[in-house]
Amino acid sequence: MKDSYDVIVVGAGPGGSIAAKTAALKGLDVLLIEKRQEIGDPVRCAEGVDKISLRHHIKPDHRWICADLKGSYIYSPDGTVVEMSAEMSGAEVGYVLERKLFDRALADESAMAGAEVMVKTRATGLIIEDDTVCGVKLMHMGEEYTVRSKIVIGADGIESKVGRWAGIDTSLKPKDMETCVQYLVSGANIDQGYCYFYLGNDVAPGGYVWLFPKGGNLANVGVGLLGSKSGKQRPIDYLNKFIKEKLPDASTIEMVYGGVPVQGPIERTIANGLMLIGDAARQSDPITGGGIINALDAGKIAGKVAADAIRKGDCSTETLQDYEEQWRETIGREISYSLAVKETFVKFTDEELNSLAYSLKDVNFDSMRLRDLLYALFKANKKLLWDLKGLFKDMVKNDFDFKNC
Ligand SMILES: Cc1cc2nc3c(=O)[nH]c(=O)nc-3n(C[C@H](O)[C@H](O)[C@H](O)COP(=O)(O)OP(=O)(O)OC[C@H]3O[C@@H](n4cnc5c(N)ncnc54)[C@H](O)[C@@H]3O)c2cc1C
Repeated sequence: MKDSYDVIVVGAGPGGSIAAKTAALKGLDVLLIEKRQEIGDPVRCAEGVDKISLRHHIKPDHRWICADLKGSYIYSPDGTVVEMSAEMSGAEVGYVLERKLFDRALADESAMAGAEVMVKTRATGLIIEDDTVCGVKLMHMGEEYTVRSKIVIGADGIESKVGRWAGIDTSLKPKDMETCVQYLVSGANIDQGYCYFYLGNDVAPGGYVWLFPKGGNLANVGVGLLGSKSGKQRPIDYLNKFIKEKLPDASTIEMVYGGVPVQGPIERTIANGLMLIGDAARQSDPITGGGIINALDAGKIAGKVAADAIRKGDCSTETLQDYEEQWRETIGREISYSLAVKETFVKFTDEELNSLAYSLKDVNFDSMRLRDLLYALFKANKKLLWDLKGLFKDMVKNDFDFKNC
């Protein structure tokens, strides 16, 4: 470790690794630090990801792909099934990843691009001079260090402190969080080409249960509950009840807890000398909770903007505003659409969800995009069209594609 770098990236999740790789490929001197001793472990993710969006960032590799998906089954509260499949739509679907290996592969790519990667290295504060972030205070193997940089990229996930240290409001209210728990189970006995989603207030108030194939006879089964709907009820009670009813032969071999921010974009993700990306910038999708692709997209934008700013010799908010604008026009717009859809859907009763599912039962979707799912829903449900008509018009105008759905 040196005394100074062009860029220090805090957090070696997907967002941090891509930011570090992008900046290093632009010729910058980059340090990527990760507080854990193993990148990618423990996993706090259901590991589902859209294929096409992923390919913009990394070549798919069978070593970190557990399942190549053909489609999804969505179950309404009364058990009505809506199938969305690649075969019906002619579109590509997604993968279920092995995140432990995927995150390492991304970190490896950043190292190959020239970034210095350090594990067991925790950021403990920022160096701030004249209202400008000039580096990071960190702890490595029990020793404290002060390392300077022209830009810091905060990629430190849901528990992010980097933003707060720089005076950015990243606070999360419990009502705007999906609280999740997930088991990796053996003996799931599911079609390994499909993801399964279960909706309903008895199953997951304001959220859903997911069942994602992990290869062999393994699956990730988890539940996310929306804070504003679940009150004091515990996700684990819902998950145990679901498993008892639907997967009685399954054995748990791993368990994870985690939170997903679903409140939509925060006001500001930059400061002088600093950019926030991924979960640290609350960039996950409010409907699905998916955040891998958004973190990768934001990381790439931040890496490029860092290179431009350093070349110009101006790392102030005026120049970093380019990052703010680029992510808000792309990722940010998708998040806003998802938030509007989510706010309508969480108000639905189980009966309304059943009737929506029934109206879609025999529909052949043109693609796997949320836009086409909504289009089919609107055609069959005039009330929904009324509730969301402004949003839908805007989506069609912008030819929007929801990559996290
Ligand atoms: C239960 C659950 C299921 C999910 N399922 C999906 C899914 O199926 N698909 C999907 O797309 N998304 C899913 N997500 C969301 C997804 O996991 C995140 O959006 C994604 O990991 C965000 O990437 P990131 O790089 O921003 O942050 P992270 O992956 O969280 O990485 C942040 C890194 O920063 C490190 N760090 C934190 N503080 C410091 C510090 N002070 N110093 C140094 N390092 C630090 C952390 O150890 C971590 O490695 C799920 C989340 C949960 C909780």
